[in-house]
Amino acid sequence: MTSQASASAPAPEPQTEQGGEAEPNPELFDAIVNLCKRRGFVFPSAEIYGGMRSTYDWGPLGALLLRNVREAWWRATVQERDDVVAIDAAILTNPKVWEASGHLATFADPMVDCRNCKERWRADHIGDTCPKCGSHDLTEARPFNLMFKTFVGPVEEEAAIAYLRPETAQGMFVNFLNVLQTTRKRPPFGIAQIGRSFRNEITPGNFVFRTREFDQMELEFFVPPAEAAGWFEYWCDERLAWHRRYGIPDRLLRLRQHETEELSHYSAATADIEFLFPWGWGELMGIANRTDYDLTAHSQHSGQRLEYFDQSTGERYVPYVIEPAQGLTRTAMAFLLAAYDEDVVAGERRTVLRLHPLIAPYQVAVLPLSKKETLTPLAREVLHRLQRHWMCDYDETQAIGRRYRRQDEIGTPYCVTIDFDSLDDDQATVRERDSTAQVRVPIADLVKVLSERLADPGA
Ligand code: ATP
Repeated sequence: MTSQASASAPAPEPQTEQGGEAEPNPELFDAIVNLCKRRGFVFPSAEIYGGMRSTYDWGPLGALLLRNVREAWWRATVQERDDVVAIDAAILTNPKVWEASGHLATFADPMVDCRNCKERWRADHIGDTCPKCGSHDLTEARPFNLMFKTFVGPVEEEAAIAYLRPETAQGMFVNFLNVLQTTRKRPPFGIAQIGRSFRNEITPGNFVFRTREFDQMELEFFVPPAEAAGWFEYWCDERLAWHRRYGIPDRLLRLRQHETEELSHYSAATADIEFLFPWGWGELMGIANRTDYDLTAHSQHSGQRLEYFDQSTGERYVPYVIEPAQGLTRTAMAFLLAAYDEDVVAGERRTVLRLHPLIAPYQVAVLPLSKKETLTPLAREVLHRLQRHWMCDYDETQAIGRRYRRQDEIGTPYCVTIDFDSLDDDQATVRERDSTAQVRVPIADLVKVLSERLADPGA
């Protein structure tokens, strides 16, 4: 096959002012929302029924993207460490958990209603004017609990009330003793969990940035109190490094320490890792020093002593907790925004998602040059061989150049093309997404060559 000419000038980086500070880029927002719908990352939920406001279903590519972000977090937070174990706790649990954690009493945002158009707003998000209709006729601010309430069992009575968890963290605190006893861990050690959380957000929006159900990736890291400040710094650095490792450039990230008056009731220190979203800097994740607040509260409410007894020193203490807490869907959105790029290849404009190879939905696309029956058996054999290692797409329709464009647009780092020469020389063409460079590789070496290119070099 003929080698495709490419203008392999260095890729223009998104959202950058030449030589200056990164700037928010409102147009990028529309570009990503359109791409997500058009290519099957994210759909409006139940679209055939008109959807539901700020509710989304993740499509075929989105499901793969989420899985890869989850996996990347898991790899760095659980797999590559010997001081973190995982759990998978129930979403519906004993409501006493939420009493002890303070969520029943304080998980509330002050709300105002507009008497004119009946919209409800977070008081801290608006001044004295309704953003929808411009009316000043607003109610007094009232607290609104963000937890979804439901009933367990057939009878809708007070005793049957339960809540959908608003965070995964409490699952780690209430299992502290179980984990200590079954894993023989000792502080400093962590419990990690990935799972769905629910919040009756009043002002969801900005696409999947803020939704009412979302997956969280949380770590509760239990440490001797005297070491808490050091571990807080450690996790701030470690989390920043994780974002860089998976391809978010430094200029789109910053660490913002909370002022004392901003701190939650349980926190001695909090920092947000912020991302430059198309509308400006916004919270991507938070790292908090939760002190001994949660374990102490659950000890008081449950009557069980949630503490660590150090047999070597005879010391008994309630560990402090450092919590890096991250939203999976919000992070997936940040990866898409950071990866979006447009450039010109062989005189033709293309959209390319420069996703990290392990974050991209597919790692490889297998493309027979033509749909002719002579090529199909070999192409499918190659597909089956590669599928044992990576998520692979298979596409045999349309001109090869258009198929490359389609793969560029969804971030597939490598295309493997089987052409008529392949039948004679047992070689395939491997084409790289970012440079569009192509090399011929013996089919027998494909797994080896792609493994080297797709290896995760680590932090
Ligand atoms: P925000 O200030 O944006 O409401 P928060 O400070 O209440 O967030 P945390 O309770 O610290 O958030 O939750 C940890 C992480 O979970 C956030 O940094 C974010 O990534 C994610 N998250 C929180 N609320 C939502 C939501 N409604 N939709 C999507 N992700 C969310």
